[in-house]
Amino acid sequence: MRYYKLGNTDLTVSELGFGGIPILRLESTEAESILRYAFDKGINFFDTANAYRDSEEKIGRAFAGMRDKVVLATKTMRRDGKGALENLEQSLRMLRTDYIDLYQFHQVAQESVWEEICAHGGALAVLQKAKEAGKIRHLGITSHSRPMAAKLIQTGLFGTIQFPFNFIEEAAAQDLHPEARRLGLGILAMKPFAGGMIDNATIAFKYLRQFSDVLPLPGFDSVAAVDEVAGFYERENGLNADDEARMASYRQELGQQFCRRCEYCQPCPQGVMITPAMGYQVAARRMSPRVSVEFSRAAMETVPRCIECGVCIQRCPYNLPIPEMLKKHYDLWGKHCREVNCSPR
Ligand code: SF4
Ligand code: SF4
Repeated sequence: MRYYKLGNTDLTVSELGFGGIPILRLESTEAESILRYAFDKGINFFDTANAYRDSEEKIGRAFAGMRDKVVLATKTMRRDGKGALENLEQSLRMLRTDYIDLYQFHQVAQESVWEEICAHGGALAVLQKAKEAGKIRHLGITSHSRPMAAKLIQTGLFGTIQFPFNFIEEAAAQDLHPEARRLGLGILAMKPFAGGMIDNATIAFKYLRQFSDVLPLPGFDSVAAVDEVAGFYERENGLNADDEARMASYRQELGQQFCRRCEYCQPCPQGVMITPAMGYQVAARRMSPRVSVEFSRAAMETVPRCIECGVCIQRCPYNLPIPEMLKKHYDLWGKHCREVNCSPR
């Protein structure tokens, strides 16, 4: 495992990080042992968020007594100063520390959100003060929106930027990445598997490893998953012609209009299970229609409840035409149901 300085910050990080979402599904002891296993494999950067339920608490317990050995990053979704400060104090308690290495404004994907953060009484001024007081070493920003991320890195206020970066969303590599590098920001790659759409870890990490200043943050929920990805960083590897062809076929299959399973669109006021229903087309290809019709039945049966209110579209950072896409997936599911003789109920 190689270590490097994260942008112009003074944080020395492993070239592979640990994303803190999947551990929230695990029992505490299992989560802690996976975290410690990842640390033993050389990973020293752990990224979590106030919004990830007990993820901070598990990380805090796993690394109690070894604070100086790990780099801890977390985030707040609160845009007001009072709320952001409450989140920060909670993160400090949960992570069992008196400082956070990297504290990020979580998912700033709209102009209006950024205005709230910067407004009088907003989160920015309060967290800058917390930084002066030593509770935060560096401030960062995360965004699923490329245009917003491109704008925010120009403010000069942040030490890092975190955005979706994988071989499907390669546009980030063409503009956002070189500009963030030029400005000296640390670059964190969320969604190395494009929200689960990429099911080939080898290609996913071969692609990312080309960018020596990009820190991928895959989530791990097992020792085997840590081994698979961390093992990849123990040897030299590069993309070959076969990999390029496979990446091209993923891109062709998914295009840019696909659901990243970020779940920002939820909950639907009508109870539509948007995220699993949005993934039906890919599930059907990967599993075969016979398996996928039953696998997705519970979600697909909620789709007719959609009244096209548009609430989810406003929340989706990728501006996906969700009701239209749901309808297409529902029609496909109905077609597959008929093909395998198990009509939609
Ligand atoms: S448009 Fe449909 S799926 Fe989206 S929130 Fe409204 S009812 Fe739910
Ligand atoms: S529809 Fe949009 S907001 Fe909802 S999970 Fe998919 S990408 Fe995320």
